[in-house]
Amino acid sequence: MLKDGEKGAVIQRDKQSYAIVPHTPLGLVTPDLLRKVADVAEKFGVKALKLTSAQRIALVGLHEEEIDAAWKELEMDPGAAVGLCVRSVKACPGTTFCRLAKQDSLGLALELDKRYHGRKLPWKMKMGVSGCINQCAENCIKDLGFIGKANGWAVTVGGNGGSRPRLARLLTEGLTTGEALDMAQRVVDFFDANAKKTQRLGRVIEKMGWEEFRKAVGA
Ligand code: SF4
Repeated sequence: MLKDGEKGAVIQRDKQSYAIVPHTPLGLVTPDLLRKVADVAEKFGVKALKLTSAQRIALVGLHEEEIDAAWKELEMDPGAAVGLCVRSVKACPGTTFCRLAKQDSLGLALELDKRYHGRKLPWKMKMGVSGCINQCAENCIKDLGFIGKANGWAVTVGGNGGSRPRLARLLTEGLTTGEALDMAQRVVDFFDANAKKTQRLGRVIEKMGWEEFRKAVGA
């Protein structure tokens, strides 16, 4: 039996089958990609195709001996669906498509995804990028979030869902995209240096104190 996450496979409830979850940055897919996923799903007779909260498509119900062949046919990288790392960057359509957007959420999120998706950390971290204050990327429950406003990016930190949910808090605002990326780097590095296993960023900040944290990341 594979370990959870080995070969990009996630063990399922029956303890015999696996899901594989290709990396589809920001949930942007093409007709060709969807056709390929559908073809692989059909070829291996998966039990379900599940759209995930991380804007991915999980192929559920593969057998261990099928995992390598399925990945080879997909020609895609695994998404960081499990493990201690930056799991996902969720983004709304932003100024690319949405009439309400104030900032380019897809542009910022794509850069964040390139830099951090799968980066190893002491515990998991999720990011969200929304083009306006409506927060369609659910920034309020993301460890690190960016909200587009007329004067630039607002940065939120410390949110998470899960068994001990926590709402994110506003760290700073009025940042350019370059400044937002610099802040992301400092927050990720801070988490890497200060978190312990099972501690989401919000808990680390709570233990350290808000003002200390702000100083530590130069906010
Ligand atoms: S957060 Fe704002 S910009 Fe993004 S999809 Fe929602 S309404 Fe549109």
